[in-house]
Amino acid sequence: MSFKARLISRIKDGGPITVAEYMALCLLDPVDGYYPTRDPLGSDGDFITAPEISQMFGEVLGLWVIQSWQDMGRPDPFTLAELGPGRGIMMADILRAVQLAPDCLAAMRVSLIEASAALEAVQARTLAEAPAPVSWAKDLSELPDMPLIIIGNEYLDCLPIRQFIQNDPFAGAAGWYERLVSLDEEDRLTFARSPAPIPEPLQVMLPAGHEDARKDDLLEVNLSAHLLINQIADIFKTRKGRALFIDYGPETTEFGDTLQALKRHEKVGVFSDPGNTDLTARVDFEALAGFAETAGLAVSPSVTQQTFLSRLGIEMRAATLARAQPEAKEKLARQLHRLMDSEQMGTLFRVVCLQSKGLPGVLGLQN
Ligand code: SAH
Repeated sequence: MSFKARLISRIKDGGPITVAEYMALCLLDPVDGYYPTRDPLGSDGDFITAPEISQMFGEVLGLWVIQSWQDMGRPDPFTLAELGPGRGIMMADILRAVQLAPDCLAAMRVSLIEASAALEAVQARTLAEAPAPVSWAKDLSELPDMPLIIIGNEYLDCLPIRQFIQNDPFAGAAGWYERLVSLDEEDRLTFARSPAPIPEPLQVMLPAGHEDARKDDLLEVNLSAHLLINQIADIFKTRKGRALFIDYGPETTEFGDTLQALKRHEKVGVFSDPGNTDLTARVDFEALAGFAETAGLAVSPSVTQQTFLSRLGIEMRAATLARAQPEAKEKLARQLHRLMDSEQMGTLFRVVCLQSKGLPGVLGLQN
């Protein structure tokens, strides 16, 4: 039975599922899910990410790691953990840059947290010659008890989101319904609304901006990101640590459905080919920061990728590389443009840092 047929029969038997369940099944089903069954990245794949565009991205992040390690008091040993490392290219570029600080490199233990066995194998190949010990962990709770730096690029956007629709603004928080994945009369996948308003424990998960909603406004809530933040907050209560997330999304909460499917760099329908298209939703940086503060973390408010990379000296890095290889000058300029330009990734992507209390300001996020 095809994966789509399996999904349909599941909904027929068990009733509609949440958007989060749909996303999680499509992306991570061990037999037919999107990530476990392929390497989706790069120009031949479905989407391309910043580290895949240019080595400069991971290299300047390497400088950020060195500075963060110094800010944390130069712990030895410490863990550098990456969430959703894709093909392992960003970590390889980070490690090359960290060789500039041999003490930092010698203290570092790399941990990769990856849900896809296919990508784990690619990471192992990319990092076969890594200058620091590399291991894989199921989640953050498996990491050894030592100071911790966490990095995730385009990780939060693939965590499953739930979607809520305001049906009766006069009812306030009680007017919200959940958007579900259901079947139409011909048993095709379609969206539907929950028969009753969402219960109170879910109402309190809505971001602060929910009070301004008009009829039919939609909000997305990333409960998996909330769980992750709670886990990070727990760890950072007893260990020094910093977590840096880079992803696409607005600075403040915005209404609207942003669930999108990509195939070969083109947007396609979210029900068109479940299990064979990438599904993501933008990250609500305001909600994320608010939640992290409530959980007891120190939050450096998000800045654009453009600002962050510029403060880390990416233009200087490009100039250095261009001097070393004059024939690559135009290629480097194109890469820089894709990462930095406001029409490209420069302002669509943002960077936020969550850390344990008592650490200095974060390089790239503070002036
Ligand atoms: N960071 C990489 C890859 C981004 S794609 C880059 O920038 O190129 C998303 C990555 O997260 C993939 O490696 C995917 O397999 C992984 N992933 C998705 N959901 C996950 C989950 N729940 N737990 C761990 N890894 C996950």
